[in-house]
Amino acid sequence: MSIAENLRAVRAAITEAAQAAGRHPSTVQLVAVSKTYPIEAVQEAYAAGQVVFGENRVQELVPKQQALPQAQWHLIGSLQTNKVKQALQAAALIHSVDSQRLLQAIDKQAEALSLTAHVLLQINISDEDQKHGLDEPEADALLADMAHHNAYPHVQVHGLMGMAAFTDDSTMISRQFARLRQARDAFAARYPQHPRLPLEHLSMGMSGDFALAIAQGATLVRIGSAIFGHRG
Ligand SMILES: *Cc1c(COP(=O)(O)O)cnc(C)c1O
Repeated sequence: MSIAENLRAVRAAITEAAQAAGRHPSTVQLVAVSKTYPIEAVQEAYAAGQVVFGENRVQELVPKQQALPQAQWHLIGSLQTNKVKQALQAAALIHSVDSQRLLQAIDKQAEALSLTAHVLLQINISDEDQKHGLDEPEADALLADMAHHNAYPHVQVHGLMGMAAFTDDSTMISRQFARLRQARDAFAARYPQHPRLPLEHLSMGMSGDFALAIAQGATLVRIGSAIFGHRG
């Protein structure tokens, strides 16, 4: 199957999962994860109408963003503080803010670049130690600092991101996604109408589990191999 055909099938599956959950399909945005695939594959997807792309490494994000600046690029993988400047210049949204130190570095660079950084906080929902992410109390503390002490004034937090455990147990995966949804809803209720805490997004769901994520409220699904094929 071609990338265009894969994209059509993924979009149809997203629509079906949204409708099954009683949601309007337009409330779920597809982030096409193009990591490891050549720019030609990205261009093919863009020609087929895909606009938002995700990369997990800054070294790969930057040249692809420069080759296709008319697309919208998201950083979805872990970010080192020494690459924050490049990340902010290339990415419209950083999904993977997983520490206070990183948030601090992002705020500082955003100020230096005179821009607002748009981010999600990555939460460890799988309880797997090797997965990056804040735990919920840590995220809560960062948001409270922003809301009550005007901390990180050059940052807007658009929501939460999480990755489910690597398992076939769909009940467990759904439970982890539901936890992320509950955390986002609780934060959004605590900081309503805060201009730097819109908290509208839940980035969860990949090729293997996006239907479960949409059922639990995902607004951004990050899908790679179902569109571009298996990575070598
Ligand atoms: C690679 C990756 C994805 C996409 O995974 P697929 O299984 O290929 O859909 C999603 N999110 C993150 C953080 C990734 O690194």
